[in-house]
Amino acid sequence: MCRVIAVANQKGGVSKTTTSINLGVGLVKLGKKVALVDADPQGHLTMGLGFPKNVRVTLKNMMENIIMGIEFDPKEAILSHKEGVDVIPANKLLTGMDMSLLTAEDREKVLREYLELLEDDYDYIIIDCMPSLGMLTINALSAADSVLIPVQPQYYAADGLTELLKVVKGIKHRFNPELEIEGILFTMDSSRYNNSKRNKQAVKAAYGAEMRIFEQSIPRSEAIAETASEGISIFAYDNRSKGAKSYAELAQEVVNHA
Ligand code: ADP
Ligand code: MG
Repeated sequence: MCRVIAVANQKGGVSKTTTSINLGVGLVKLGKKVALVDADPQGHLTMGLGFPKNVRVTLKNMMENIIMGIEFDPKEAILSHKEGVDVIPANKLLTGMDMSLLTAEDREKVLREYLELLEDDYDYIIIDCMPSLGMLTINALSAADSVLIPVQPQYYAADGLTELLKVVKGIKHRFNPELEIEGILFTMDSSRYNNSKRNKQAVKAAYGAEMRIFEQSIPRSEAIAETASEGISIFAYDNRSKGAKSYAELAQEVVNHA
C-alpha cells in the first residue's frame, strides 16, 4: 500500500523542500520505493536534486492531461535520481496551473487522479508543496494520506500553524476525510539556545495534545544547507553527519507510524 505524504507549510524557507528530499532518500535507505513530487513552480526540489530547470516533461503536463481527459503515459514525467528516488519535476511553467485548475472539473482532485496512476509502483509518494495555500497545495492535501508540517522553532511558530491547520480541517471535511496529520517536525533547530527550546515548548503546549510532534528534530547545519547546490541528499553529502542521522531517524519514525 502506498502512503502519500504532503510536506506543507505556507511559510517559505522552513525546510519543506530539504525535508522532502532527505526524508525521501531516508525512506529509500530503509528499503522503500519512493517518488518525490515537486508541486512548487519554483522547482527547488527538481534543481536541488541536480535536474535542469528546463526539463521537458513535468508535473504540469501530467496534470494537464488529467484536466483534458487525454490518454497518456503517467510515467513519462519520472526522472530517476542516482540515490534511488524517483522525481516528478516542476519548473516555473507550473505557475499557470493554479489558474487552469480554477475552471477544471473536480479541480481539487486533479493531482490525486494523477498520483493514483502511480501508486502501485511506490511505498511512499512525497509531495513538496509551494509556500502558499492556493489550488496546487489544496490539490496536494486532497491527494495525501497525511501532511507533514516542518516548523522552525521561532517565536511566532505556533501562531502561523493556525491557518494551515484550518485549511487541513477544511480539506478533510470537504474532499479527503482520511487526511491525517503525519506530524509536526522541528527544522533548523538550534536546541542549544534557550529560545529555541522555549519556542518548541510553546508549539507542544498548543498542539501536542491533538497531533504528533516528531521526537526527532532536524538540526540547523551547514552541511544540510550545502546539499542543494550539489544535487544530492545529506546522506550522499556526509552520511555520518548529524543531519544525516536526524533524517534517518525521521524516516524510521514515519515508517513506524504507518
Ligand atoms: P522551503 O522549501 O520550506 O522554502 P527549503 O528546504 O528550501 O525551505 O530551505 C530554505 C533554505 O534553508 C535553503 O537554502 C536550505 O538549503 C536551507 N536549509 C534547509 N534546512 C536546513 C537545515 N536543517 N540547516 C541549515 N539550512 C537549512
Ligand atoms: Mg520549497
